[in-house]
Amino acid sequence: MSIHYVCRHCGHKVGTLEEKVVDTEKLGFNHLTNEERTSFIQYAEDGSMSVNVICEDCQEALERNPDFHQYSTFIQ
Ligand SMILES: [Zn+2]
Repeated sequence: MSIHYVCRHCGHKVGTLEEKVVDTEKLGFNHLTNEERTSFIQYAEDGSMSVNVICEDCQEALERNPDFHQYSTFIQ
């Protein structure tokens, strides 16, 4: 299964993971509530997954503007 990491702020594709078996625990998904899971993770029709993360650029912008930090997530 492909897991695509996409920046939730600018839509930049951060990376793709190819996993035969997705270990949600390893990925830290088990720390999310069901609600968070549905908002961060999208399942595509082809069986791949998209995870909303923050890219380096947006992370840097957030660090420069700590006021925005409340909108950042713990998924990096
Ligand atoms: Zn970004």
